[in-house]
Amino acid sequence: MTTKITGLRKAFDAFEALRSIDLSIEAGEFVAVLGPSGCGKTTLLRLIAGFERPTDGEIYMDGVCVSTKKHVVPPERRNIGMVFQSFALWPHLSVQEQVEFPLRHHPHTPANLKKHYKERALDVLKLVGLGHLGKRMPNELSGGQKQRVALARAMAHQPSLLLMDEPLSSLDAELREEMRREIQNVHRHTNSSVVYVTHDQGEALAMADRIVIMKEGEIEQIGTPEDIFLYPKTTYVATFVGKATILSGKWNGNDFHPDVDPTLRWDGTDIAAAFKQQQTYPVRPDQWRLNDQQRGIKATIANVLYQGREIQYAVQLGEETVTVYGSLNERYRIGDTVCLQKEEAPVPRKAQIG
Ligand code: ATP
Repeated sequence: MTTKITGLRKAFDAFEALRSIDLSIEAGEFVAVLGPSGCGKTTLLRLIAGFERPTDGEIYMDGVCVSTKKHVVPPERRNIGMVFQSFALWPHLSVQEQVEFPLRHHPHTPANLKKHYKERALDVLKLVGLGHLGKRMPNELSGGQKQRVALARAMAHQPSLLLMDEPLSSLDAELREEMRREIQNVHRHTNSSVVYVTHDQGEALAMADRIVIMKEGEIEQIGTPEDIFLYPKTTYVATFVGKATILSGKWNGNDFHPDVDPTLRWDGTDIAAAFKQQQTYPVRPDQWRLNDQQRGIKATIANVLYQGREIQYAVQLGEETVTVYGSLNERYRIGDTVCLQKEEAPVPRKAQIG
């Protein structure tokens, strides 16, 4: 199913939670909506689901208008499935019954699935690794198992659009990894489009076909994970997703000379216009190389965080504190004087496309 959102706006009294949102979601596409707390992610999801009425704008599903300020098709009549942060399982239904319920009652359940709802429920439970727990009640499940039931329940009737609101945020790191794979697996097995709300940039980068970055009720940038990570269009995207440091300096055509050492010349062919206008240059932590052989810009180690596979340094570079990843083979200590070099950007985008 395609979903098209045009000019969407949502105000709660005088407060505008969403402003002029335009977004198209293709059939089968996995779109992550990423942004900090309060930027309007959940509001957008609730509007797509039909829980909220837009103040302005329209939502179309497969070309049919389902939301305007005058008319909203209710959630139960949309061909959607939903998974929320808070599982929201029915306490009086067993695992198997949780999944059977939408199969039996959702108006969009395909006839063959409705007819064989018991088998279908079991198949979906197997897909999320719970085939053996159908008889359990929700209070007999772990957090991860509950989340799997919620996922199975949301997808059992093969909705054309799966809406997920921070579905993994209450799980521990290991379980989150596992569930990410599970969700991707489920997505591959269905042809559903997915809109996945998260404030975790790693999750969005790892899972999505496209990422929508939101800021204060507006879309800041839409692109593939690679686009968003390597070619941020604004300071906000560069710092939020790439954890970049924004260095000031002078642009001369496509060359940048950082203030910390104006004799340096960094290529900026692919750096977005907004940075050139502001005379700044974004550098991600993974683009810095540390050395103690006087190559690059002189800096001082301000903090050291051991991370297992690598070391994360906070490095004082002029007025800036820069995050840098270092290898376990060369260790520096707080107060050490080091040199920083910026790694060349990947193959310029135009060359890649050509
Ligand atoms: P989080 O990551 O914390 O869940 P979010 O990006 O999902 O945040 P929303 O829940 O969409 O943010 O909220 C966006 C803004 O709209 C917030 O400032 C919130 O306080 C406000 N808001 C949301 N729902 C309502 C409501 N029913 N009445 C008034 N304000 C609301």
